[in-house]
Amino acid sequence: MSGKDTRSRALFDRAVRVIPGGVNSPVRAFRGVGGVPRFIRSASGSRITDADGNTLVDYVGSWGPMLFGHAPPFVLEAVREAAGAGTSFGAPTEREVELAELVCSMVPGVEMVRFVNSGSEATGAAVRLVRGYTGRPIILKCEGCYHGSVDALLARAGSGVATLGIPDSAGVPDAVAAGTMVVPFNDTNALEEVFAAHGNRIAAFIVEPVAGNMGLVPPRPGYLEMARALTRGHGALLVLDEVMTGFRLGVGGAGALLGILPDLVTLGKIVGGGLPVAAYGGRRDVMECVAPLGPVYQAGTLSGNPLAMAAGLAMLREIRRRGPELYELLEAKAGALCHGLSAILDGRAVVQRFGSMFTVFFSGSPVTDFLSAKGCDTVAFSRFFHGLLGRGVYFPPSQFESAFVSAAHTDDDISLTLNAAREIAADI
Ligand code: PMP
Repeated sequence: MSGKDTRSRALFDRAVRVIPGGVNSPVRAFRGVGGVPRFIRSASGSRITDADGNTLVDYVGSWGPMLFGHAPPFVLEAVREAAGAGTSFGAPTEREVELAELVCSMVPGVEMVRFVNSGSEATGAAVRLVRGYTGRPIILKCEGCYHGSVDALLARAGSGVATLGIPDSAGVPDAVAAGTMVVPFNDTNALEEVFAAHGNRIAAFIVEPVAGNMGLVPPRPGYLEMARALTRGHGALLVLDEVMTGFRLGVGGAGALLGILPDLVTLGKIVGGGLPVAAYGGRRDVMECVAPLGPVYQAGTLSGNPLAMAAGLAMLREIRRRGPELYELLEAKAGALCHGLSAILDGRAVVQRFGSMFTVFFSGSPVTDFLSAKGCDTVAFSRFFHGLLGRGVYFPPSQFESAFVSAAHTDDDISLTLNAAREIAADI
C-alpha cells in the first residue's frame, strides 16, 4: 500500500500557514478529490516518490511536460552544463536562436516566436497581440477551455448560446470580462451565430485544439475547420492554444496533426522540458507587431533563460530525433492502458483519449463540452482517485483534468495500474 502520508500531512500543515491553500497552484491542493496532497521528494522515469518514501506510478507528469518521463538524462545533462556557465544574463544567447529555429521548423504556421516563462504569460501576450494587430476588442473563447490565469481569459459563459463573458474570478473587472465572448466547445452553430452577429469586432478565436482542461475532450470532426473558415472569413485570427498539446500529440502539435493552420500558436510545458518556458509564435506579419519591432509591448527579465532554453533544446532535439516512432510508442502505451481501464470500468465510466492524453470520466455517455463534463459523478471520481493513490498510482486530483502517459511508462506500470483499478472497481 502507498497510503502512509505522515510527512506529507506535516508539510501541508506548515504550508497552509504561509502559502494560500498550502500550494502554489490551486489544483495541487486536492480540493477536487478531498484529502491532503502528497509532497513530492523526487521523480525518475514514470515514477514519483513522495515525502514519506512512497513511490507512485505518475500520470500527471508535471501536468504535461514530462513526455519522456521525469528527469531524462539528456535534459539533466543539458541543464547542468548550462548552469555551469551562468544562470541568467538578461542578454541574448545562442540557445535562444537555436530553440526558436527548432520551434519554427517543427510547428507549422510558426514563422517567428517569442519565449516567455509560463503558458499564462504566452496567452496573455497573445491576447494583447491579436488586439493590437487587428485593432478589434473582442476575444472569443470556449467554455471549459483554460488558457491560463489571465484576466481576459478568466471569463465564463453567461446564459445563452454565445454570450459576453462574465468574470470567473474575483478581481477581474466586469469591463475586462466583457471584452471576452464565450461559446460552448464543439458547437459549430454557436460559432456561426457569434461570427454572424459580432464578426467584425472579434480580434481572435482562441481554442485548445484538443481540449484538456475540462478533462480530455477531442474536437468533433469539422469543428476546427469551421473555426478556421469563420475566423479567416471575418478577418479575425485563429489562436491555437497548444500549451498542453504542443509536441505532445505529434511533432508539430495538434494543429499539424489535424490539418489546421493557425495564425498564432501558444506553447508551453514540453517546449521547456520541465523548466519554466512557454512561447507564442505564428505568422510573420502578426509577430512583427511585437516590440521592439512593432507597437505591441511584451517583455520579461528571465525570458529565454539559459537553463530553461537548454532544457527545451534537449527536449525538442530528442523529439525530432525520435520522430513519428515516438508518437506510435505513446499511442500504443496509452491505448493499452485506456483499453484496460475502459473494460474494467465498463458501465461506470467513459475513458476518453487522444494520443497520450486521457481522462476517465464518471459519466454514462461521452463528454463533448463543458456542460456534459459538469454532469460527471465527481464523488465516484474521488473514490477512484484515492483507491488508486492507496495502491501506488498517482492520477490528476480532479475529474476535470487530462492524465498523461509518457514514453517512460512500462508494461509493468500499466499492469500495476490496471490491477489497482480492478481491485477498486467494485467499490466506486
Ligand atoms: N493554456 C493551456 C491549454 C493550458 O493547459 C495551461 C496550463 N495547464 C495554460 C494555458 C497555462 O499555462 P501555465 O500554467 O504554464 O501558466
